[in-house]
Amino acid sequence: MRDPDRWVVVGLDNGGTTNNATVLDSAGQFLVDRLAECPSCVGDGPDKAIEALARSLEDVLELTGIPRAAVRAVGLDTPGPVSAEGVISSKGATNFSDPRWRSFDVRGALEIRLGLPVVYNNDANAAALYAHYEHFGSAEAALRSSVSVIVGTGLGGGVIEAGRVVRGAAGMAGELGHVWVPMDGLLAAGQPVPRCNCGLSGDAESVASLTGIE
Ligand SMILES: [Zn+2]
Repeated sequence: MRDPDRWVVVGLDNGGTTNNATVLDSAGQFLVDRLAECPSCVGDGPDKAIEALARSLEDVLELTGIPRAAVRAVGLDTPGPVSAEGVISSKGATNFSDPRWRSFDVRGALEIRLGLPVVYNNDANAAALYAHYEHFGSAEAALRSSVSVIVGTGLGGGVIEAGRVVRGAAGMAGELGHVWVPMDGLLAAGQPVPRCNCGLSGDAESVASLTGIE
């Protein structure tokens, strides 16, 4: 029998093509053990993408049999660059190329659409937070600090201090991919220094992202 006082939080992971979703109960246990994916519709602009996120939430609740009324809050992450409060960069972003995304408050828009509190982190910080709690366990996580490097198409990073994400003034703290690394002794004779999309040569992303490794 389900406890009527039981509450959950829903996690929504937004990507360039796909959303993924999960549900955690009040004890921090994941109630979904697989990918729960649906199209993110990000390329169709903010209105369609916010609807797609709302659909992700409904779908994952249906999957777990949890009633909507049991949801206390939503955790949202997206690719960057996005401010610490979930506002897409005014200069645009690779994953949010439609001009309507510029300076769009994705966190605020989802909060209004769902009528639930929405907490935002960029995807690398969300991954770092997960890794931190997974590594230290929930009892000790709030007492510990960690640095995570997130290898993907690019190279993301996150810094956790006393169990909380260090965001920095502009939400860019822990962006480890664009830190220059000494290349002495790393390159074969005649091998060019790898260049990053950010303009730097020989930064961590140009060497150790999946793109860089390839
Ligand atoms: Zn770079």
